[in-house]
Amino acid sequence: MSALKPCPNAFCAHSSPKIWQGAVAKKWRGTCRQCHIETAAFDTEAEAITAWNTRASDELVPELVGALELALEYWAHRQQRYKNRSPVWVQDARAALAKHRGQG
Ligand SMILES: [Zn+2]
Repeated sequence: MSALKPCPNAFCAHSSPKIWQGAVAKKWRGTCRQCHIETAAFDTEAEAITAWNTRASDELVPELVGALELALEYWAHRQQRYKNRSPVWVQDARAALAKHRGQG
């Protein structure tokens, strides 16, 4: 089997990818055992590996970053009445954006 890239989920603490074949439909998928994100189902193992190892195209990244920034802005506006409450997903999203900007 070809090497699998780590889990693409930025919030996944312990990447644990695997390629597996369903028992009934005999379709192949890539799945992260930790966070359970998965690819679509494919007829061959090779297709599932390619799908797992292929990430969102670079053209999508600015769109995704924009959506995340908007979500955080909305959150910041909404949470003013709760005195700086900052759930884990907000901290993780801010950290991921900072990391992305560091790479850009
Ligand atoms: Zn994962």
